[in-house]
Amino acid sequence: MINVTRSSMPPFEEYCNEIRELWDSHWLTNNGAKHHALQAELEQRLGVPHVTLYTNGHLALENILAALDLPSGGEVITTPFTFASTTNAIVRCGLTPVFCDVNDADYTMDESKIEALITERTAAILPVHVYGNLCAVEAIQKIADKHGLKVVYDAAHAFGVTYRGANAMAFGDASMISFHATKVFNTIEGGAVCYRDDCLVDKLNQLKNFGEDASEDCIYVGGNAKMNEFQAAMGLCNLRHLDGEIAKRRTVVEHYRARLSGVTGIKLCEPQPGVQSNYAYFPVVFDGYQYDRNTVFERLKERGINARKYFYPLTNAFSCYRGLETAGPDKTPVAQYFAERVLTLPLYADLAAEDVDTICDIVLN
Ligand SMILES: *Cc1c(COP(=O)(O)O)cnc(C)c1O
Repeated sequence: MINVTRSSMPPFEEYCNEIRELWDSHWLTNNGAKHHALQAELEQRLGVPHVTLYTNGHLALENILAALDLPSGGEVITTPFTFASTTNAIVRCGLTPVFCDVNDADYTMDESKIEALITERTAAILPVHVYGNLCAVEAIQKIADKHGLKVVYDAAHAFGVTYRGANAMAFGDASMISFHATKVFNTIEGGAVCYRDDCLVDKLNQLKNFGEDASEDCIYVGGNAKMNEFQAAMGLCNLRHLDGEIAKRRTVVEHYRARLSGVTGIKLCEPQPGVQSNYAYFPVVFDGYQYDRNTVFERLKERGINARKYFYPLTNAFSCYRGLETAGPDKTPVAQYFAERVLTLPLYADLAAEDVDTICDIVLN
């Protein structure tokens, strides 16, 4: 059986050594030594002034939306070609998602369609670096500046991606990354907000700890979203092996490309100019192929191979948004088109070459 992904894990002994100190200190969470070390390493590696760690990426996104003090009921321009988390975070923060369509080259927000969606209630733009493809960061920033809007990226897929030497986390007012077990870099569960504004440091740290300040007064109605020491220790170990893991992913992706490119009716995602990929996902679009996406999905499944219809359904088609005036997949036809045709094939560092061949044989035959 081959799953769509498999978590990267350090050697068992390495993790045991990393957590050994915790049995001496008995300090398991709340800004421990591992938390400090991971935060410092990530700030350096990602080249951003501030990284605030979280127990998962979703709560990191909710906290940065709360920290920016966007007006209640304000509109956030986002896309539906994403994981549930992006849209749910907006709504759970009392904001209204307004869905912009995606482009047909890299499935990120179509910047030419943003301005038509801006109203006097628009507060922010929340684009998604889908599959690790970088959004049109420069064009989006220009629009945001012109209209006085905040930009928060869902960069859950973009750990390790760079654009002309700049880290993907450097764009917008803030970026959320996920360190979930299925992502390129994991802390089991985990996540972070990356940003430049010094004024947000205390606020984010307080928001993830019930809203308490140093005097134990609650100055915000915060929840609990802290990363614990075992998560941070996993992150410290996985970081040591990350470059090797990404290099192995690249080999897998090159093998897939060699087998599947140039086939009529199969569309692969082309590398973006100036962007160094993290090889997070391998999406394949079936359009005019002899079999449709759902048939290929079923044939793979019969052979014990779990590909994923990712992203399907669109978030603006979810039942929980049926009453929302701005929802409805008909408003984003390009996103809907890809949601019905895309399949992400299994991809992880240790996926064997013969398994890639088996998967491609099934897809091609
Ligand atoms: C994984 C993911 C999230 C949520 O991150 P968690 O760490 O799982 O909470 C948000 N957005 C996208 C696009 C994701 O893939």
